[in-house]
Amino acid sequence: MTVAVDIGGTKIAGALVHPDGTMTATTRRPTPRGADGDGVFAAVAEVVAELAGSPLWSAAVRCGIGSAGPVDTSRGTVSPVNIGAWRGFPVQARIEAELARHGAALPTVLAGDGVAMTAAEHWLGAARGHANALCMVVSTGVGGGLILNDRLHPGPTGNAGHIGHISVAFDGEPCVCGSRGCVESIASGTAIARWARAQGWTPADPHGDASAAGVAAAAEAGEPVAVAAFDRAGRALAAAIAATATLVETDIAVIGGGVATSGDTLFAPIRAHLADYATLSFVRGLRVVPAALGTHAGLIGAAAAAAMLLPGT
Ligand SMILES: [Zn+2]
Repeated sequence: MTVAVDIGGTKIAGALVHPDGTMTATTRRPTPRGADGDGVFAAVAEVVAELAGSPLWSAAVRCGIGSAGPVDTSRGTVSPVNIGAWRGFPVQARIEAELARHGAALPTVLAGDGVAMTAAEHWLGAARGHANALCMVVSTGVGGGLILNDRLHPGPTGNAGHIGHISVAFDGEPCVCGSRGCVESIASGTAIARWARAQGWTPADPHGDASAAGVAAAAEAGEPVAVAAFDRAGRALAAAIAATATLVETDIAVIGGGVATSGDTLFAPIRAHLADYATLSFVRGLRVVPAALGTHAGLIGAAAAAAMLLPGT
């Protein structure tokens, strides 16, 4: 059994995950708003305490912690964009202390949400059976992770595969990260909506959805600016996916996250543009598919990352 904890900007979830991926004692708390660092952690401690009340607690052998980023797994710290009270917060050590308090001094692994999602998709999802895969989350930001030689490759600080901040337009617009023309600055939900509005698109209903979901609905209806916004995002993603495949010979890219739920509105332009960028013989078979795991991907990912990174536990 693996203790899994998933920390996001809106909720903190926990579960005991069986070796086949099924979950027991699943629990969640809203992420506290307006609390200080310890106040936010109190919700994590409650989740751990509830898991510790399970009759299966004594069967746990490891703990996986997935968190919204940025993360620094070399220090065990997180600074989630949506949890302002946590900057360089030592979440791994604090959770280890809670586990010990409940009689379970387990080895732990901390993974960013993109890396955790990658572990989940490789274990039970769309990247299953692929020895080399890129997995991505396209939502308000763009994150990702890599499977290389059937192993999760988080890198020294847990940030390998951070595809949102590789440049696909070397003289493009400045990105929040300080670089230019990053994938995230073109293909995130935030960027899609911003670009569409800058080109004059507005929701048909003045009180309608002006987010990427609204742009996706308009694109499905054939609205030209909305179609162009998704085409541009798809092209940026295709260039980044092809670059990754050319660099490390990934043969599949799995895409999850809120923007990916728009289905072919996003995937059709990615696949159409992929042929322009994935040109060498060894990447021509590259496939791009939707993520297969839904709501519990964060918990599954935390457990999968722990199992992959703590062999022998
Ligand atoms: Zn950037």
